[in-house]
Amino acid sequence: MINQHPHVRFNPLNQSWVLVSPHRTERPWQGLVEDTPQETSLPYNPSCYLCPGNARAGGVRNPHYSGTFVFDNDFAALRPETPAGEFREGDLLLARNESGRCRVVCFSPRHDLTLARMEVEAIRAVVDTWCEEFAQLAAQPNVRAVQIFENRGALMGCSNPHPHGQIWADASVPDGLLREVTSQAAYFEKHRRTLLEDYWRLEISKEERVVCANEHFVVVVPFWAVWPFECLLISRRPVPSLLELTAAGRHGLAEILRRLTIRYDNLFKTSFPYTMGFHQQPTDRNVYPGFHLHAHFYPPLLRSATVRKFMVGYELMAMPQRDITPEAAASQLRALPELHYLDT
Ligand code: ZN
Repeated sequence: MINQHPHVRFNPLNQSWVLVSPHRTERPWQGLVEDTPQETSLPYNPSCYLCPGNARAGGVRNPHYSGTFVFDNDFAALRPETPAGEFREGDLLLARNESGRCRVVCFSPRHDLTLARMEVEAIRAVVDTWCEEFAQLAAQPNVRAVQIFENRGALMGCSNPHPHGQIWADASVPDGLLREVTSQAAYFEKHRRTLLEDYWRLEISKEERVVCANEHFVVVVPFWAVWPFECLLISRRPVPSLLELTAAGRHGLAEILRRLTIRYDNLFKTSFPYTMGFHQQPTDRNVYPGFHLHAHFYPPLLRSATVRKFMVGYELMAMPQRDITPEAAASQLRALPELHYLDT
C-alpha cells in the first residue's frame, strides 16, 4: 500500500499525522516563472492552465467560464477511489490509506485579479461557490471534513497567480481541525457559550487588536498570533459552517474579505501573499457543540514586500517566536485605508 496510494502516516514521537501523496510529483509550476508582476499582467494569459478556454494538464480544456469555475484537481493529493488499507508494524510504523477529493475553485475568469482587486459582488459569488461545494462534499458518505483554503503568491508556494483556491475533502478529520474541535467543545462545556463568541466580544470591547469589522464579521490579530500579520476572521453569530450564514451574512463575508485583503495589499504596497482557510465543523454528522465558523490568515511578510518571516531554528524545535507584537501589527493594519493603493 505504501508508495502507491495517498495515505497518512503516524508520528509516534509527537502524536500527529502526515499526509503522503506519492503519485503527485508531476505538478505544473506557474508561480515564480511569471516575468511580469501580477499588478500589470493581462486579464487573459494564453499559457495559464486556469484561464477560460485553455488546456489543463492531461489535455482537459476549461470552459469559457464567466464567473467562478470549479473542477477536480488534476494532481489531487487525495483521491476518491483510494482503497481502504492499513499498515502496521508494532507501535512504531503505522499508516492507513486516505481517500478524499481535491477541488480547485477559480475565483474569476480574469487572470490579473485577486480577492483584493475584485468587487464585493464577485467575491460574493466565490462565497456562494464555497457554500455549494461544501454542501455537496459534506453530503458524500466518506467525507468527514472539508477544508476550504487559498494559497496566494509564489512566496507561499502557489503555483499559479490566477485567482483561485482549493477545497480538500477528507475521509478523516485532520489534526489541525481536530485540535480546534476539542478546545471549542471543552470551552462550550464549561461556559455554555462558544469560545470564539466570547473572544470576539472581548476583542471588540478592548479594540486594540481589532483590524476591521462589519455587522456579521470581526477581524482581529489574535492575542496568540504567530505570523507577524496573522489575522483571525470570526463570524459574529456562532454558526458551525458557511451554510448557516444568512444571505446578508454571505454578503458581509464578501465585504470583509475585500476590506481585509485590501488592507493587506496596502501594508507593503504589494500583492500580499498569504495562506487563508476556513475552519468549519466536521461533516461526519456528529454534533459539535461550540464549533464556531472562522477563518485564519497566515501571511509570511514581516517588514516589506520582500522581507519574510521564516519558521526555523528554535521555532521548528521548540515553539514559534515573534518580534512585532500582535497589538502593534493590528494597529498598523487598522491605520491603513480601505481604498486599494493601485486605485489612488
Ligand atoms: Zn481554526
